[in-house]
Amino acid sequence: MQGKILNIQRCSIHNGPGIRTTVFFKGCPMTCLWCHNPESQSFKNEVMYDQEKCVQCQSCITACSNNCINFEAGKIKTNLDRCSFCENCIDYCLSGSRELVGRDISARNLVDELLKDSEFFKNSNGGVTLSGGEALSQGYFTIEVAKLLKKRGISVALDTCGFVNSEQLEEISQYIDIFLYDIKIIDPEKHREFTGVDNKLIFENLQLLNHLGSRIFIRIPVIDGVNTSEGEIHGILDLIDGMDIEKISLLPYHEIGRHKYDKLDLNFKNKTMKVPGKIVIENIKKIFEKKYIVEIGG
Ligand code: SF4
Ligand code: SF4
Ligand code: SF4
Repeated sequence: MQGKILNIQRCSIHNGPGIRTTVFFKGCPMTCLWCHNPESQSFKNEVMYDQEKCVQCQSCITACSNNCINFEAGKIKTNLDRCSFCENCIDYCLSGSRELVGRDISARNLVDELLKDSEFFKNSNGGVTLSGGEALSQGYFTIEVAKLLKKRGISVALDTCGFVNSEQLEEISQYIDIFLYDIKIIDPEKHREFTGVDNKLIFENLQLLNHLGSRIFIRIPVIDGVNTSEGEIHGILDLIDGMDIEKISLLPYHEIGRHKYDKLDLNFKNKTMKVPGKIVIENIKKIFEKKYIVEIGG
């Protein structure tokens, strides 16, 4: 069974307990405006282009036998509709301005790759985190990866946006030790506006996992001007009331991934999004701390 991943990040300490190896799957059903990994959204391979590094030598144009690449208004443009992802243009680009994002891999090869870090997992109570994009968008491929890891005694976490097939979520839950479950916006209209999808399924799937007795950590991206109002915070408290939630992680919005939009030739649409100040974060933390273990980051 083949799937598509972006990359494998080793020695990560922010995606679950202990030392973890995180696999970023390619493709996401959501299009969050704040997304700092926009290269993870498309289910297809892409070529990223860094204009700042480009010396305009035009070698990539000559290297492309599919005529995908043009030089327009001082910038290299790539037509991905014709691209075979042969990587010739990347090999010919001596400035390192071009980068292929996305690679196909079988479940078995991916697991073999992840098992190389077993010693780190054992010594730190860590494991593998399946992240993205949305890992479970690749349904049975991801289930197979989780199953193979579990068989080898590896602890597996799934970092999910929750907008996934409920039957597949239930099936994978038997192989998942911890769910890192994102709650973004309570107001349904605002949720659609900022993420491109409705939040009803996300909330239903959270209830499903709670009902199944899964270990759940909630993750909330905190974006000033979007989900920092009292109504939003109390809405989250109402949603998780009565659920067995082990921990809440507040993830302050940042603009580190902003340059990636240029590299993908995408428009960064900032509506009302602001980086939250320390006071905003601390106030939200205090509210959740009355009932839950709360951490900033993670
Ligand atoms: S990856 Fe291959 S086909 Fe695609 S733009 Fe580069 S050279 Fe052309
Ligand atoms: S080969 Fe690289 S440096 Fe030369 S024009 Fe193409 S992207 Fe720019
Ligand atoms: S769910 Fe995550 S990966 Fe998907 S668009 Fe939103 S922020 Fe990006």
